[in-house]
Amino acid sequence: MSKIAYLCQQNESDPGKVAVSVIVRDDVLGVRGRSVFCFTMQTERTTELSEEKIYDVIVIGGGAAGLMAAGTAARAGRSVLLLEKMEKSARKVCITGKGRCNLTNICPPEEFLEKVRAGRDFFRPAFRTLDNQALCRFFERQGVKLEVEQGRRVFPRSGKAWDIADALRYWCSDNGVETLLNARVREILTVGNRVYGVTYRNKRGFTRKAEARNVILATGGASYPATGSTGDGYGLAHAVGHTIVEVRPALVPLESGHADRFLLSGLQLRNVQVALLIDGTVADEAFGELQFSRRGVEGATTLRLSRRAVDALIDGKQVALSLDLKPALSPEILRERIHRERESLPPDAFFGELLRKLMPRQLVQPMARGLHIPTSTPLHQLTDQQVDELIDTLKHFLVPISDYRPFEEAIVTAGGVSTEEVDPETLQSKIVRGLYFAGEVLDIDADTGGYNLQIAFSTGFLAGQLKKETIHA
Ligand SMILES: Cc1cc2nc3c(=O)[nH]c(=O)nc-3n(C[C@H](O)[C@H](O)[C@H](O)COP(=O)(O)OP(=O)(O)OC[C@H]3O[C@@H](n4cnc5c(N)ncnc54)[C@H](O)[C@@H]3O)c2cc1C
Repeated sequence: MSKIAYLCQQNESDPGKVAVSVIVRDDVLGVRGRSVFCFTMQTERTTELSEEKIYDVIVIGGGAAGLMAAGTAARAGRSVLLLEKMEKSARKVCITGKGRCNLTNICPPEEFLEKVRAGRDFFRPAFRTLDNQALCRFFERQGVKLEVEQGRRVFPRSGKAWDIADALRYWCSDNGVETLLNARVREILTVGNRVYGVTYRNKRGFTRKAEARNVILATGGASYPATGSTGDGYGLAHAVGHTIVEVRPALVPLESGHADRFLLSGLQLRNVQVALLIDGTVADEAFGELQFSRRGVEGATTLRLSRRAVDALIDGKQVALSLDLKPALSPEILRERIHRERESLPPDAFFGELLRKLMPRQLVQPMARGLHIPTSTPLHQLTDQQVDELIDTLKHFLVPISDYRPFEEAIVTAGGVSTEEVDPETLQSKIVRGLYFAGEVLDIDADTGGYNLQIAFSTGFLAGQLKKETIHA
């Protein structure tokens, strides 16, 4: 059966102006036709609360997980109140994937689950309920065209993260979710071991109460706090008896005391093999891109390795990255290459000129200094032992790591509400009946590549079903 839906697109530069699309949608075939006209209205169905109303569910936090949970519950006919403390929901979604939103990764299920660092087994039932393929179908049904890029990362074809945010907001609104913005939840209300509502601070700074039979806590982590994710959920959960696994930044740039970090700053290396050394032993490896900054290192490989690096630094261990700058070449082939490059240079060439043939300009001075061979050394004076040392340094360029950057720069938060105290089949609390969890507030986190948003969406979808008991197959 076809349905007509109205989609409203907010003008980013003028939030008062809204483009309204009339969409003829078919539940099976997705969007069939669309025409757009403009007028002025609000994009979220905001609500005036009556204190007497008892909702089926209150969702705390309008991020990826909260919006998915709210829409899912409303679509099943529940009355839903979504409380979001910022002036707009889904702020973090809008900055994901550098503004393009890498919403999932389309790799096979087992490969996907391998990328989940904490809470892998706990996450399985949620992923089964809404996996990466189903998530793509969901967004395509909302009229968002998707495309798969390198590394099986999925993005909206428009290249605009806010298309994902808008699709979620409209989906919630279409299904009747009532949203209260600028509402910061302060307390989860319980009687005995049952939830019955929340208190929140409204726009004018007054505390108000809202009641519901169920509450879904989806307040996100503590990273990028300017988006609204300031770690409130940990205090809210702890106050009703939940254990919080230590929270710390994950997927975060690392600081280095490398003597030449200012010279290296801005250097971007592609196709490097990076090993994480903890107390001198290889603990993890990543292949890809790495970037030097004034403070240390960032980029995909650094972020991937940062999870374990942070934990090791917290435990006072020695941490370093060892970069293989020529991963495609064995030491023997590298020796031949160096020999060839030497032969191609004039007899009076300097060591610096040889280095320039082997690496980007910015690496030349740091490399020469590390080897204690001045760049002005005549090439014919280079000994076999020095060539061996050069090969060794090209294969193991050491970057000592002294610290990690704060939550403000972390892509995700490791730690959170202990999954031991939450039923993985329903996401309901084992301590407080009617309390559910979704998203980054839980102690689940994964690598970069679209995995973290999928975690938020899958857990939001499962929590939004408000399943009461575990149904064992
Ligand atoms: C810069 C950046 C880029 C990223 N890019 C990607 C990417 O491309 N792909 C990917 O998979 N992941 C990415 N991530 C990670 C991903 O964005 C998060 O894992 C995901 O958004 C978590 O969703 P969530 O709904 O659990 O939390 P959030 O998105 O953080 O949402 C939580 C919401 O709760 C609200 N809230 C908090 N406290 C309260 C309260 N007391 N009362 C009411 N509301 C409250 C917040 O305002 C917020 O809106 C990125 C993260 C960052 C910071």
